[in-house]
Amino acid sequence: MSATNFVVEVNGVLLADATVTLADQLEVNLVSVAGQEEAVLVVTAFLPGAPKPEKYIHSKKGTVAAGDTVTIRLAALADEKSTMIREPQGVGDENRANDGMTCSFCGKAQIEVRKMVAGPAVFICDKCAELCHEIMHET
Ligand SMILES: [Zn+2]
Repeated sequence: MSATNFVVEVNGVLLADATVTLADQLEVNLVSVAGQEEAVLVVTAFLPGAPKPEKYIHSKKGTVAAGDTVTIRLAALADEKSTMIREPQGVGDENRANDGMTCSFCGKAQIEVRKMVAGPAVFICDKCAELCHEIMHET
């Protein structure tokens, strides 16, 4: 069974780094804070084989505000490893330049754009996001 490396970054800074197999479930939860332009971002992994108390593991809580960029990167791994969430170890790995992520609107790869925002199974680059913003504000 192959595993997937799952990386969640906020403004380019690592929030969580997990290795997931097909048997595992990984959730990224974004919970808004009432009355504030902030949200709490947590990565939770469910391990089917683990004993009950450790069935769920959680990442450190990240706080995101309006305008922040949350990036989710996926990278297939050849060998199987168990699910784990690593605590942030500082700034994201600079060597992960190309991971196959492309903008769903213009098709540009991540290395061709300044920033990429991830949604459920879609991505949008900074240029397309800017264009959308302009269209939304046209009168
Ligand atoms: Zn684009």
